[in-house]
Amino acid sequence: MHPFNYYDPRTVEEAVEVLKKFGDRAKCLAGGTDVLVQTRGERYELDAIVDVKKIPELTSVDWTNDHLIIGAATPCYVLYEDPKVCEAFPGIIDSASLIGGIQIQSRASLGGNLCNASPSADGICSLIVHEAECVIAGPNGIREIPVEEMCVGPGKNAMDEGEFLVSIKLPLKNSFFSSSYERFIPRNEMDIAVAAVASSVSLENGKISSCRIALAAVGPTPIFAEEASKMLIGKEPTEENIKNASNKAKEIASPISDMRGTVEHRKDLIEVLTRRTLSKAVERVSV
Ligand SMILES: Cc1cc2nc3c(=O)[nH]c(=O)nc-3n(C[C@H](O)[C@H](O)[C@H](O)COP(=O)(O)OP(=O)(O)OC[C@H]3O[C@@H](n4cnc5c(N)ncnc54)[C@H](O)[C@@H]3O)c2cc1C
Repeated sequence: MHPFNYYDPRTVEEAVEVLKKFGDRAKCLAGGTDVLVQTRGERYELDAIVDVKKIPELTSVDWTNDHLIIGAATPCYVLYEDPKVCEAFPGIIDSASLIGGIQIQSRASLGGNLCNASPSADGICSLIVHEAECVIAGPNGIREIPVEEMCVGPGKNAMDEGEFLVSIKLPLKNSFFSSSYERFIPRNEMDIAVAAVASSVSLENGKISSCRIALAAVGPTPIFAEEASKMLIGKEPTEENIKNASNKAKEIASPISDMRGTVEHRKDLIEVLTRRTLSKAVERVSV
């Protein structure tokens, strides 16, 4: 393995400085459950690893009047051990509690999951259906982008050199909103999703007033299935309406065949998982 320097900046500004200095020969370290494996596997050669966990904003979980702000390096377990987060963000908790096993969840962060930009990542679709925003720091200051714009290709994110993810901002919703995430994996010990779906809905007077559906492992990036989501707005959450939206999600999915599944299998899975996650989100609003 190529030797690299370890940096542990204490402020956002210090981190930007190191990242800018080393450009594409530096990578951030959050939980390390992707970056250390990839570095050891010599997927890339690094001169610097920038451990962002000592920057306070990166590991804090803060509530404002209208948002939950999750530090980008906050480990998954911190989220699912917080009853308030569990109640308000069920889809996020579905994701956080199935990434790897307990050991992985004690290190792995949603920020790392997002920046790693794997098409099959378990955290990204739930962030999309919760309308999350990425707070990115860089040499030109802070900018924010919707999570659905963050992944631009397999393993590629929308950040420029010198930039890094500080936090993820989730808008607070009312009690008529809920969400759900499910993935299909062939065996319990094989953790990469063959296909996965997150859905969220808001219900008003028995009708769906907002809906978002996002698909994983069926395209080069996680997909916000906007057309399928819009089909349900203003409709009752009946079996038929949910089935129609699920068929649209199946149409939108554009998977490849590989060792984990064929195109046909993956598309069928998207229909089933969209139906299940929409129904689950509706059910969760009702309890
Ligand atoms: C045994 C095992 C099982 C796994 N199971 C799953 C699974 O079931 N589902 C799943 O989705 N993933 C799984 N993973 C992959 C991994 O655990 C997740 O993607 C995890 O969320 C990564 O988070 P991390 O904090 O460890 O990221 P890291 O490894 O620290 O970073 C990941 C990438 O993001 C970059 N990065 C991290 N933080 C920032 C930041 N703040 N700003 C800019 N760039 C940043 C890093 O440079 C790196 O490129 C598994 C991994 C292992 C080893």
